[in-house]
Amino acid sequence: MRHGVTLHPKAARYNTPMATNPAPTSTRPRPLRRGVRTAALALVLGLLTSLAVAATVAFSADPPSTPPNIMRSFMAHGQPWSISESSHFGARRALWSQLTFDSLYTPQDLKKRFPDGPPDDAALVLNTLREMYDPLILSRPGGRSLHSPASWGQFAPGAAAPQPGLRGSDYGFGWPFTCLWYQVLGNDQGMTVVGAQLRGGLLISGQPATVGDAHCRIIPLRPAWPGLLGNTFIFAAAWLLVLLAVPMLVRAKRRRRGLCPACAYDLRGTPAGSPCPECGSVSAVRWDSV
Ligand SMILES: [Zn+2]
Repeated sequence: MRHGVTLHPKAARYNTPMATNPAPTSTRPRPLRRGVRTAALALVLGLLTSLAVAATVAFSADPPSTPPNIMRSFMAHGQPWSISESSHFGARRALWSQLTFDSLYTPQDLKKRFPDGPPDDAALVLNTLREMYDPLILSRPGGRSLHSPASWGQFAPGAAAPQPGLRGSDYGFGWPFTCLWYQVLGNDQGMTVVGAQLRGGLLISGQPATVGDAHCRIIPLRPAWPGLLGNTFIFAAAWLLVLLAVPMLVRAKRRRRGLCPACAYDLRGTPAGSPCPECGSVSAVRWDSV
């Protein structure tokens, strides 16, 4: 019995000087360690959320098949290339092909324009493509003409050159950035592309397509690192808010009800200014002062 109030049996132990009683602080994680643990948990949850969003988008709808609204034309591996991109929420499709005058003109027009055969001039091919297709692309909603490849897919920095004669569609998924992708390659045979081969994806149903509309469900397995990092940080920030807000709300609710904010022990019988008899938390003094 102290101060005329009945204490919990453990109270006597915690009311002795701290030097002889280190148990309460040593068993609870230090704030710094707890902060690092919360941040790490938020990052893991952010990564899992990024992957889950990308996989869900890929699994829930056909890949984009609307007309392209982004045209990319650029030099890579010493050759001119073009990429036609179409998109819907959380999904992008990038059809790429090597640019030649043969792919821009019909044989008759080619003969008319270059009677002695088309020049071997990559810059001229790129400019011709831009002059022919930019007005069309720019007239579409959200239409853009870009002169560099995307950060993911076949022409991501450091990626190897495609084998000669191949065309491909890179299908990217994720929100807000593309973070997972797969690829469908085919052999370019003039006006058609044959022999669709799926790379980096898990076919669930349907038929992969290099060109034309694709009706299929394919789970993308290749990471698009810049987008994966970006999405992970964005979702981790959201998770961090949740992870910080929930304990704060719990502690505030306990404090209002006269309970120890740390362990929910009933403090209504504990004198003002005393640490919590159950866990030794000094924050327990706060409710008495209210
Ligand atoms: Zn307590």
